[in-house]
Amino acid sequence: MPYKSGRKRTEYNKQYWLDNREKLIKQQRDRWEKRRQYTQEYKLSKGCKICGYNKCAGALDFHHSNDDKEFTIGSYSIMNLERIEREIKKCVVLCRNCHAELHEKEREL
Ligand SMILES: [Zn+2]
Repeated sequence: MPYKSGRKRTEYNKQYWLDNREKLIKQQRDRWEKRRQYTQEYKLSKGCKICGYNKCAGALDFHHSNDDKEFTIGSYSIMNLERIEREIKKCVVLCRNCHAELHEKEREL
């Protein structure tokens, strides 16, 4: 990028966006798809830690077992893969049913 700061940089960025709009949108979509695929495959490979369910990635959640949550993994569209991997390691995979039951029990405590 030729400008470090100021109005020229803003203009340059705006023009760059306009000139490369489709390419940039496609890049963003590809990155998002790659992360989505990674998290889906990870969930299916682990399955629910409580009941073992592993048929549909959409029905599996990441559950933060400790209080060290940095971000919700569902927001992976803006995170790099390294951060997502780090966050995933803090979680256990649970199916929607077991996840809901677990939180319900936590509320009762
Ligand atoms: Zn389960």
